[in-house]
Amino acid sequence: MLKVYRHYLAALGMVLSCFISTLSQAKSLDSKVVVELLISIDYEGDKIRTTDLEAIRQFQKQYPTIKLIHFMNAAYFTKSWSKDRDEISKRLLSLIRPGDDLGVHIHGWKNFVEASGVTFKSHPRYLGNHLPERFHGERGSDVPLDEYSTREITQMLEFSILELRKRGFPQPTSFRAGGWQSGPKVWSALKRVGILIDSSAVPARLIRNLYPRSLLQKKADSLWSTITEFTKSRQRAGIIEVPNNMGLADYVSAEHFREMARNSLKRSIRNGDNKVLFHYGFHQETARLYLDEVSKVIDWLTSLEKEGKITLLNHSVIEHIKSAGLYKAYEELVADNANRCRRSVRK
Ligand SMILES: [Zn+2]
Repeated sequence: MLKVYRHYLAALGMVLSCFISTLSQAKSLDSKVVVELLISIDYEGDKIRTTDLEAIRQFQKQYPTIKLIHFMNAAYFTKSWSKDRDEISKRLLSLIRPGDDLGVHIHGWKNFVEASGVTFKSHPRYLGNHLPERFHGERGSDVPLDEYSTREITQMLEFSILELRKRGFPQPTSFRAGGWQSGPKVWSALKRVGILIDSSAVPARLIRNLYPRSLLQKKADSLWSTITEFTKSRQRAGIIEVPNNMGLADYVSAEHFREMARNSLKRSIRNGDNKVLFHYGFHQETARLYLDEVSKVIDWLTSLEKEGKITLLNHSVIEHIKSAGLYKAYEELVADNANRCRRSVRK
């Protein structure tokens, strides 16, 4: 009897242990969060140094499958020193690989604004005393874009797109404003030129820590007070907003990224939401100094994936919009916008 009882207990134990292991497996599968990683580069339209370009090339060699969103700046072609414009195009184009995206980035540099046919404004400056007025010899890089009228911003966007296309760059599909300063006037101008994805939203808290009591902070507080590291892409004001929710490596170190990412992952598991967006980036002009932070972030996320804690996806902007379930909305916005533009041309 005792023997039978022992067999019974052993069998029950086996059943129970199978049950428990299935449960824990299900729990670990359920709690495995899909991390969607977007990496963008802001091209400031300032200096092109061999050391920065080399740092980007090394990064691309080290991570051949990582897709980049290039927020390209037409101001490189309007600088007083930009004599050999074909050489500049060649150097910048060499950084764009198949699968990468092209977007537009604008800072109000004097030569660029005037080349767009717009009267230059030297004030207000969103960085004020944080930056010399003539940055590398030219003014205007920190004048908020929305200080200009919708018509003037449209002219700057049209100039950027034409200049970039003329020099062999692909058609841009998205936009990021200098200093993350977009807003209603900028969105109207973007619609006029057919760009319906804006990636200017950033957690206002990050700016508050960086440049306290600056116009940049004031503007970020009024535009982006609801944006956090948890914010996902959404449709807003007739545009798809893809937030730069983890900031840029110059301001958010890999360590700071990990802290924000851990919060985001914990929150997502707590809320039963199995998907998070991490949109991080860096500047072309300071790649030699900060691109290493982006590498550390990718290595950390890859190690989490190897440990079975997350599923890591890296997407271009359009792939991301599809994966976020926003592609139908995007297509409808594109069609509505094209109809509206046709109607306004006929009038
Ligand atoms: Zn910028």
